[in-house]
Amino acid sequence: MEIVRIPALSDNYVWLVHEPGSGETMVVDPAVAEPVLEAAEARGWRISAIWNTHWHPDHTGGNAAIKEATGATVTGPAAEADRIPTLDRGVGEGDIVRLGGQAARVLEVPAHTSGHIAFHFADERVLFAGDTLFAMGCGRLFEGTADQMFANMVRLRELPHETQVYCAHEYTQSNGRYARVAEPGNAAIAQRMEEVDRLRAAGEPTVPTTIGRELETNPFLRATSAERLAELRAAKDAFRG
Ligand code: ZN
Ligand code: FE
Repeated sequence: MEIVRIPALSDNYVWLVHEPGSGETMVVDPAVAEPVLEAAEARGWRISAIWNTHWHPDHTGGNAAIKEATGATVTGPAAEADRIPTLDRGVGEGDIVRLGGQAARVLEVPAHTSGHIAFHFADERVLFAGDTLFAMGCGRLFEGTADQMFANMVRLRELPHETQVYCAHEYTQSNGRYARVAEPGNAAIAQRMEEVDRLRAAGEPTVPTTIGRELETNPFLRATSAERLAELRAAKDAFRG
């Protein structure tokens, strides 16, 4: 699979995904339509599908215009169908969504929103995590609990370490500033932050990441209990680093 990063709004990443075997192309969480349509057109790709991880407007805002321009079908969480009016196919835990010859399994990872899902291409070792897992962070608990987010982290850390994690935001630097405070003795975090600061100063992205890297540097993925995750999340929400 070929995966193209399209920066949108202030810090969103839209992921344009092309499967060369079939020539099919889909887009994950289009915040907006224009740059996505342009990126596909520039490569001679026709978008046939939109996959949404959750209903927030910075993940679905481009749905209608991309549908209108391409006839693409929209797949997203069945549990949020009432909040994604453009939805064509609602999916939930264990459902398979195909892109040409590749198949992704749907993981239900509620907490940021009550119906949040992730798409896991096991063969390709690729996870589209939406706003659930970020580089050195996790999503805010808008519609769920720390218990739920902890359960999500436990699931995600079972994935193969080399799994590439495509998050929906460039939050790494601010997450890392908090991670340093949360785990002051963690040399891997300090080391990673040197790299992140260098990349961001050069205007370069820090996403995708990998499960292995997050296991070393992400306090939320490393949390050993829901109570610990709740503490971390509350402290990060209040953190001004
Ligand atoms: Zn969100
Ligand atoms: Fe978001």
